This record gives sequence, structure tokens and C-alpha cells, in this order.
Amino acid sequence: VAKEPVKFSVGLEIHARLKTKRKIFCSCPNRYGDEANANTCPVCLGLPGSLPVLNPEILTPSLKAALALGCHVEKTSEFSRKNYFYPDLPRNYQITQYDCPLALGGGLATEDASGKTVAVRLQRIHLEEDAGRSLRSKGQSVLVDMNRAGAPLLEIVTEPDLANGEQARSWLGRLRQVLRYLDVCDGDMENGSLRCDANVGIVGHSELSGPWVELKNLNSFKAVGLAVNHEINRLGRGLAEEKPLQRETRSWDPSARETRVLRSKELAADYRYFPEPDIPVLRVEKDLLAEIEASLPELPSAKEKRFCSEYGVPRADAVTLCRSLALGGYFESCLNALAGITKTPAGILGKTVSGWVLTSVLGAVSGQDEDLPGIQLSPEKLAEILGLLHTGEIHRTKARLLVERILDHGSSTSLSDLVVMLGKEDEREITPMNELCDEVIAAHPDMVANYLKGKTGLLNFFVGEVLTRAGGSLEAGVVRKRLSERLSPKADEKHNNE
Ligand SMILES: [Zn+2]
Repeated sequence: VAKEPVKFSVGLEIHARLKTKRKIFCSCPNRYGDEANANTCPVCLGLPGSLPVLNPEILTPSLKAALALGCHVEKTSEFSRKNYFYPDLPRNYQITQYDCPLALGGGLATEDASGKTVAVRLQRIHLEEDAGRSLRSKGQSVLVDMNRAGAPLLEIVTEPDLANGEQARSWLGRLRQVLRYLDVCDGDMENGSLRCDANVGIVGHSELSGPWVELKNLNSFKAVGLAVNHEINRLGRGLAEEKPLQRETRSWDPSARETRVLRSKELAADYRYFPEPDIPVLRVEKDLLAEIEASLPELPSAKEKRFCSEYGVPRADAVTLCRSLALGGYFESCLNALAGITKTPAGILGKTVSGWVLTSVLGAVSGQDEDLPGIQLSPEKLAEILGLLHTGEIHRTKARLLVERILDHGSSTSLSDLVVMLGKEDEREITPMNELCDEVIAAHPDMVANYLKGKTGLLNFFVGEVLTRAGGSLEAGVVRKRLSERLSPKADEKHNNE
């Protein structure tokens, strides 16, 4: 009998540091990069006799995240003590939420590489305090920085709905995007604002089902993808060779590109959770929830869909444009300004604007979206240039030159002056077009006569002829303008001037 192929399931536990001014249980600054242990007090140092007090500032960002992720926010939630010993946890317990978390359920979908939707359910979202940081120094000693101790964390736990490292990585990216849209967490994995552990389990195996290995220290998106796949392969090999598999916690070694045993996996009982007596029950009022729900911004997936349906932007472009609020905002401001200038529906202009934003503008900031607000070429200025292109007053090459000029040197000169300045560079491009127009006009004297008698519809014929001869190098709008100039009764005068 052929064995069923083994399947693996992956669940993630994400710790997101909330963007608040103060820590969760004391009034120390929630800020990093300061001198070690500068932002500490008896509460976050865990000194005997100190009393934690819940900072109400944490409520809004955590509820925003819970509602945006479709969770059910519990009317009341409670804090517990999770007991364990660690040098950076001098109290010997962490204040967290255990059996009564802030919110339950919810979910967030992402797409895998093939564009297939991967829906991931959430198990729960809870609040907890961060521990300090242990820094190994030379020799046997350990240095401890407690600036991070007591930082407010939102722990987001998924169901094991992911199949592999690529999906895990993609989903984590989607979650970070949502948290950034909500402005509740800066989402930087490098500085620990966003941290991820992964649980890899075996599906449908009689003895080995459920979460089997917990992966820690996944400090980058790359690490999440590689470590999960490495672990799936390691467990798969172990099963094939019928080796005994341990339930354990493993860490990812990025230089060796492999996972290593950290410790045998703790079970909840190991932590001897019990209710935190110093923090009262957290009650969330209906009114506050309704207020926060109403204030939620448009989320990435909704924005992507809207950019496609309202503006006719191709799906792949919409996904890129919506990757940050700054980029999506730039695009939409430019598009709306252009629609105003040209009196043309945004749905017709979307694809063009998207093309310019994703190439010229994004290139100018080297893909760093956060630099967009300071860019020389404002969305309105780009719209002015694209407006000239739309009406055929300038052609594509000149539009590109204008964009580059303003990106490099700013826009203290008016756009019309810049157009004149660039005129000389432009002649090289215009001459071949003029010659083609003249050729076509000379080849059809009868039609020209009819056109001049009032059969203006013939202009389309001339435009088509020029475009065919140009072999795709010219824009219809520009050619149309040039032809109608040359076919006007005053064309002879102009002709002599060029
Ligand atoms: Zn403190």
C-alpha cells in the first residue's frame, strides 16, 4: 500500500511592537536607540514593591489592528503572569494575556507566487510586555539592556493554514503592510519592531500531528521563508527514514542556513500561568469600538481592487502602487490632478499615470517609498506634464525629459519655460515627424483638397498613414496636432519657419 504523501502545516506567531509614546505598564519612553538602560524605572526593572499600571494609550492601536484583521474583540480581557527565568526578565515572570485575550478569530489573506489566494485564519490577538535584551559580551558575562522591557507588544497568532516558507513570507508581508497602513507598528524586522516565530506541524499523521517544531529568531522575511522550508525538508527526511522526531524549539542560523535545537518545546503547563493580581480586568466599551471601526483606513486589498476597477490599472501595477500609503497616495493625487486638467475620467488615465509613477518616479527614489513626500516632482507637477502629453502639446520623449529635469533640478522654472528650454533638444525628434507628415500630404493631393473643402474626418486617414510609416515610434495625439497645423490654410508660413 502506497503511503499518503506527508503534508506540513505552518502557523505564525507575530510580535508587533505598538507605536506608543510610553511603555505598557509604566511611563518610561517606548523608544529605542538610546543609551542602554536609560529608559527604565522600578516597574519595568521589576524591582520589588513596584506596581504596574496599564497605559490607556495602548488600547486604540491594538483595537485598530484587531478590527482591521476581522477579529472579535472581547468585552473583557485579562492579564496573566507567565513564569520563566531569563536574565533580561528580572521579575521572573512576563505580564501577558493567556486564557482571556483581547480578541479572537479573524483572518487575513495573501497571494502565493502563482497568484492563488491563501486565506489564513487568526486564532487570537493579545497584549503583553516585551522583555529586555541580553547582549553577550566577551567571556562568560551577559550584559542586559532593559530599555525594551515593558514595551507594548501585540501578539498575533495564526491557525496553521500556511503550507510552506514562501506562503509564510508572503503572509507576513501582507500583515506588515496592514499594520503600517494602520500606523500602529513601524514593521521593521531589523530593529525588532516586528518579530516572527513559526510553528511547523505534520498534517494527518496519527502520532505526530499538531505543531511539532517551533522556530525562533526569524529576524528577516528571508529567514522566515528559508527556515520554514528547511524545517519542512528536515522533518520530511526524518519521517522517510523513520527516525524519532522530537517536539522542540529550534533557532535559525542564517549563515549556516540551517535550524538548530534551542531547547525541548515548553508546554503551557511549564509556564505556570496564573492571573495577574495587580492589573484590573480590561473592559472595551462598545462606543470606543464603533468609533475605532469607523476610523479605519482603506486596507491594502480593498485599495488594490479599487485601483483596478476604478482606474483601470493592471493588477500587478495596483499591487505595487498599494504597497505603501506614500506610493498609493502619490499615484492617486497625480491621477486626480490630471483628470481635473484634462477633463478626462480617471478610469481612462489610470494606466498611463501608473506607468509613469512606477518607472520614472519610483526610479528617482530608488524604490524608497518613504522618500516620496520630499521629492522635487510633486504629483501635481507630474500631472501638468502628463496633461501636455495628453493634449499632444509635447510628445513622450519630451515629457520624459521634463520629468527628469524636474526630478534633478527642482521646478523653480515654470513648466512652459522648461518646455521652451528643452525645445532645442527637441528639434532632432520633431524633424523626422515633420518629414513624414509632408510625405503623406504630398502623396495625397486629392484628399488634401477634400480636407480643405471641409471633409475634416480625413484627418484620421492622414494620421494613420503617418503612424504606419513611422512604424510605432510616434504618438497619435502629437501627429494629429502636427498634421492639423500643417493642413491649416496658414501652414505655408509655418512651413517656411521650420
Ligand atoms: Zn519603566
